[in-house]
Amino acid sequence: MITVFNSLSRSKETFVPSSKNHIGMYLCGPTVYSEAHLGHGRTGVSFDVIRRWFEYRGFNVRFVSNVTDVGHITTETDDDGVDRIGQRAKLEQLEPMEIADKYMWSYFQDLAALGVKKPSITPRATGHILEQIEMVQRLIANGHAYERDGSVYFRVRSFPKYGHLSGKKIDDLEHGTREDVREDKEDPLDFALWKFAEPEHIMRWNSPWGEGFPGWHIECSAMALKYLGENFDIHAGGLDLQFPHHEAEIAQAEGAGYAFAKYWLHGNMLTIGGEKMSKSKGNFITLADFYQQKAEPMVLRLAYIQSHYRSIAEIGDEIIEGAKTALSRLREVKRELERRIPEASSGENPSLEKALEKAVTEFEAALDDDFNTPKGLAAVFDLTREVNTALTAGTGRSSLEKALNFYNTFVGGVLGLYHSAQSTATDDAQLLEGLMQIAIEARGVYRQNRDFSRSDGLRERLKSLGVTLEDTASGTRWKLEG
Ligand SMILES: [Zn+2]
Repeated sequence: MITVFNSLSRSKETFVPSSKNHIGMYLCGPTVYSEAHLGHGRTGVSFDVIRRWFEYRGFNVRFVSNVTDVGHITTETDDDGVDRIGQRAKLEQLEPMEIADKYMWSYFQDLAALGVKKPSITPRATGHILEQIEMVQRLIANGHAYERDGSVYFRVRSFPKYGHLSGKKIDDLEHGTREDVREDKEDPLDFALWKFAEPEHIMRWNSPWGEGFPGWHIECSAMALKYLGENFDIHAGGLDLQFPHHEAEIAQAEGAGYAFAKYWLHGNMLTIGGEKMSKSKGNFITLADFYQQKAEPMVLRLAYIQSHYRSIAEIGDEIIEGAKTALSRLREVKRELERRIPEASSGENPSLEKALEKAVTEFEAALDDDFNTPKGLAAVFDLTREVNTALTAGTGRSSLEKALNFYNTFVGGVLGLYHSAQSTATDDAQLLEGLMQIAIEARGVYRQNRDFSRSDGLRERLKSLGVTLEDTASGTRWKLEG
């Protein structure tokens, strides 16, 4: 029996799937206008473990996670911002679709490095304009939306449940809005479902209301219902999306006459040295930079799951150092088991058998209880001490085999910490990092000796290989082109 914390009821509930063996799960994916950062990584890993746990428990999971490539504007509570993708396209002098593709692929690459499984379906907002228009039409027909000068707005006061998920009251929300924005709305609370495209707007589609583009929230309602049907099991996302995005998703779907998700799961944010990660605090870090400067992706994965997905995860240097040690213990015990099993004497090791039984019971109970990964990990490390003792004794081959199976199933399969495709890529990345440090040191020596023809020559040779060097106050950094 699995219990999940449902944000809708703010309590733990017994999970009752809508069909016996199948689960439909929707996770709000990224807006692909810049590089994925530690926050994206955490959301990806949290719900990857949850998906894997359902699979371990025998469910077939259809995991749908979208890519927002239009409509996400820079301000989230009113409609006066500019489209994030469009803005970035201007900045990088690329087509909006080039921006979307560039950052979508780098996002999937960065998450794959963390061992996050690919979604079963990855719908893109621009590929579902018709579905979104259709839903907007239904909302107008049902009295939940209205058109103004080529834009269509959701009439928030027509949906009294608005605010239930995030525990907000419509009347309180009203006080927080700016009266001066968008006079064409009936009510400042109303949000855009479809927006009229100004002449300079590149991304535009024909609609019953003229040329325009969809609002940010409507895509998830339309695409979740299209691929998971009504009354699907789980809708997941980061806590920062609970309001207004998820409120809007519920209002749109239910307003259009559909039953929406039964369980809402929200993953918490992270801190670095106790501080929220933000560009203004200077502690903002992308996944790619983290892998290059701090640690390999599997260390980060372990650091994430050392915290429960609903708690704030601390990802400061100390935690990362601890995770490095812990990960090498988990790798080491598996390697040792593989090495020692063939030469161990046959039979059982009674104390290891007992420890294994306890570990399986504890691990399963922990993950069944709202996916409590820190407790699950504690069971793994308790077992690891016993296994190391048994390895020293070198007896009980069948028990050692069972132990190996435990690590492969739970540490590898469920927690995803033995991601093998990744370890090759990581070895390459570590080798490259090591070689680059040697090159940078050599150049430093040339420069100290004022041998600038050699130091410049070295720089040029690296450049011809696609590596650029950048001298900063904190030392020389390197970067691979493209
Ligand atoms: Zn969404």
